Amino acid sequence: MSQLLITGGAGFIGSHTCLVLLQEGHDLIVLDDYSNSSPVALERVVALAGLQASGERSKERLQLIQGDIRDITCLEKVFIDARNAGKPIEAVIHFAGLKAVGESVREPLRYWDVNLTGSRCLLAAMNTHGCRTLVFSSSATLYGYPKDEPIPESAPIQPINPYGHSKAAVEQLLHDLASSAPNQWRIACLRYFNPVGAHPSGKIGEDPLGTPNNLFPFVSQVAVGRRKSLQVFGGDWPTSDGTGVRDYIHVMDLAEGHRAALDCMLAEPAQLLTLNLGSGQGASVLEVVRAFERASGRPVPYDVVARRNGDAAITVADPAMAFQRLGWQTQSGLDEICRDGWAWQSANPTGYSDQE
Ligand code: NAD
Ligand code: UDP
Repeated sequence: MSQLLITGGAGFIGSHTCLVLLQEGHDLIVLDDYSNSSPVALERVVALAGLQASGERSKERLQLIQGDIRDITCLEKVFIDARNAGKPIEAVIHFAGLKAVGESVREPLRYWDVNLTGSRCLLAAMNTHGCRTLVFSSSATLYGYPKDEPIPESAPIQPINPYGHSKAAVEQLLHDLASSAPNQWRIACLRYFNPVGAHPSGKIGEDPLGTPNNLFPFVSQVAVGRRKSLQVFGGDWPTSDGTGVRDYIHVMDLAEGHRAALDCMLAEPAQLLTLNLGSGQGASVLEVVRAFERASGRPVPYDVVARRNGDAAITVADPAMAFQRLGWQTQSGLDEICRDGWAWQSANPTGYSDQE
């Protein structure tokens, strides 16, 4: 088993992936500045992984470092300390970044800085310390307004907002780096579709700051009574019921996708592999609302309002390549996603805040 560096490991996708990787036997160093997460998430990951009873051993398995991926001194220290402790970092899973589309339009400098400069700093530190195995969090947002449905990895990259541009720039940087030393870098670029849901225990889940931008956390906050009603952005899309269609993927399936991608990178020759991680199934906004009502037993009142700027009608993955290369495919559908999302939301109505 390997020593891994997980940037942004306290966040939504990172925390669920940390759990899967700990259960797989890997030792983890999490580097996170907690700008959009809480250390409580990782305390719960430790408990879920059954590590809390083992005291010092638990610190060996999961080491937490509060730091910024743009801080080169901090990154250097992480790699050097790991080597000096006799456990050099073998691979990095890079989740750390900013992800809110609307915020990226208002604050492009911050998005380019954290997402691109942060990735550049990390890659430079990896290169210096001879660690050239990476799994990177990319996004289906790269496809902009896709022409093909489902969307294959070969579809044109045409992002339509600064967040998407910053992810596309990192992908380009990874290509350039891989081309500069083709036999050295092992890179998996994972283009996620819509990650949602929570660990089935309800102990860890998505905890957005302020008003959620995304459908799923908004719907679950309406169901739990934190918000009055949902605004459905557009009822006149060219879809079966007029509402937008997305490919929702259970966060535990996504975490398994990272495990599979990491195993592939560690086992196979150097390469750059770009994969969609999605289910291949679309669900409309109203289908999500109904599924969540069934799972929670609560009503989710909604009003149909104008379309949101920049939205596409339908975004669904062609996940065939991930199955072919990793043997990975999603296991959970919308009902399981809503069941587990509700387990999290109902047990933690205000997320990780004001809890131990
Ligand atoms: P998240 O905000 O929950 O997690 C990101 C983590 O990175 C947080 O813990 C945050 O505190 C940390 N972080 C942010 N800036 C940092 C910095 N400068 N230094 C160190 N840590 C920093 O987001 P998530 O949903 O878990 O997303 C993880 C990754 O996946 C992101 O790169 C995101 O762009 C990408 N992604 C997310 C989605 C989605 O819908 N959630 C979709 C596609 C891609
Ligand atoms: N959506 C909505 N109301 C909301 C948030 C989202 O109707 O409050 C719709 C949105 O227009 C899209 C779908 O839900 O059709 C998924 O949106 P989300 O922001 O979760 O994901 P993305 O658009 O980034 O794929």
